[in-house]
Amino acid sequence: MNLLDRILYKWLFRSLANQLLITYLLVITLSLVFVSLWALVAIRKESLTDLQNTMEVEAINLGLEIDNDLVLDSPLSRQRIQAAVERRATRLGVSIVVVDKDGRLLADSQPIAQKENLSNEQEINEALAGVISKTTRSEPASNLNMLYVACPVRSMGETTGVIRVGVQLTQIERRLQKDLIVFLEIILATGVITVFISLLMARRLNRPVQEMSALAKQISISGDFSAFLPVRRQDEIGELCLSFNQMIGRLREQERVRQEFISNASHELKTPTMAIGSVVDAMLAGASEDPKLRAQFLGSLERLVERQTSLIQDLLDISKLDSGLDSNWQEEVSIVSLVNDTVEQLRPQADKKQISISTQMTLDSAGGNDLVVLGNGSQLQRAITNVLQNAINYTPAGGSVSVSARAVGGDKLEIKVQDTGVGIDSADLPHIFDRFYRADKARTRETGGTGLGLAIVREIIARHHGSMDVESLVGRGSTFVILIPLRQSGPEGA
Ligand code: ADP
Repeated sequence: MNLLDRILYKWLFRSLANQLLITYLLVITLSLVFVSLWALVAIRKESLTDLQNTMEVEAINLGLEIDNDLVLDSPLSRQRIQAAVERRATRLGVSIVVVDKDGRLLADSQPIAQKENLSNEQEINEALAGVISKTTRSEPASNLNMLYVACPVRSMGETTGVIRVGVQLTQIERRLQKDLIVFLEIILATGVITVFISLLMARRLNRPVQEMSALAKQISISGDFSAFLPVRRQDEIGELCLSFNQMIGRLREQERVRQEFISNASHELKTPTMAIGSVVDAMLAGASEDPKLRAQFLGSLERLVERQTSLIQDLLDISKLDSGLDSNWQEEVSIVSLVNDTVEQLRPQADKKQISISTQMTLDSAGGNDLVVLGNGSQLQRAITNVLQNAINYTPAGGSVSVSARAVGGDKLEIKVQDTGVGIDSADLPHIFDRFYRADKARTRETGGTGLGLAIVREIIARHHGSMDVESLVGRGSTFVILIPLRQSGPEGA
């Protein structure tokens, strides 16, 4: 690529405006050239026809004037014919010749000596045969393009001679040249106007694109999501600006959530760490000497470390879910055994609190198949564990928890966890799935909750294209309902 090409390439393809400009210019110039050519051809044709008709009328009129003299064919009559021919030729600016019935020259408007007999000329020959003849040809003697109209003069049914009117085509060509110049001027003027309008249009189009690209660059450099694009238009570009702003809004919201999460997580990690520090300090200060105190402090240390561990585990799980790193979401998961296993794992805790757990599994109505979903088995177990763990945690001793799984609507799995626990206040209900949200802080601390359990459940269920709902009455208990699409058994699965 040489330098000129490179500059041209840069100029053209680096700017939307220039591409638009060139396109407009090409389209308009091509269409104008096409229309002009078409108009010139039409004008030429029309002018020729007009001229031929005028010449024909003049030849007929001259014929009427001289038909008697043609018959007489005397020296005097020839003089009259010559005079009539010169008069008309001078008035019209054409050349006229008159020949007798044998093609011999009788009169000529031009002083140049013509041939004695013109019967060989095509138009004269045809006119002698009785028809009006029109022809265009280049005269070798003068090198001029001529249009000839030859009319027979008739007397008593006989052709007595021929009148031929000739005109130089240069007249028409000159007129066409003038028209061509006018057309070129129109093309040039339109080109200039097009450039002007397309520059304006292109700038109008380009401005938001440039603003968008500048803002995107600024965001990528500074990470600051505070600026928005001005939306001045209602067309597709306006829509693009709106979507861009929505995207910035979303990114800003995500950034806010991320910051909030980091600050909450740090706060949550700090509290038990400080408590561990205080216990260690107390032990170092001598509390470890007393066996009763030592056992008490070691017990609290164990609980604090457990809490810290479960918090860290929850944080790891939620960030893993956020990053989408847990990849296998296509396992066939048998829900009945999954729920039974989970219940059995948590039963000792429930027994300890004298809480009874009952399960009710309704197998797939179509043929008693197990309930199967496509997803991630360990994540689903994690979700059910969290909900069941909450039910046990927030149900006082002597209460009961029931877990059921069944197919609903033929294509969905419903898992219901119902407890007779403390319930959730209606003001807290919309927030319990938020990260770090705890409805009753004092009680949650007692249960060792992190405030992340239900947020993790919500993420896992969303990943299984499912939904979650909760109903609760304070003092009466809560019911959590999870809905997940069941694996559809195709022909090969049947
Ligand atoms: P936590 O780890 O604190 O239990 P979760 O995200 O699991 O956090 O739950 C959020 C809050 O919702 C809990 O702090 C608790 O107040 C409330 N909650 C969850 N499940 C139940 C339930 N079965 N009964 C009463 N309250 C519940």
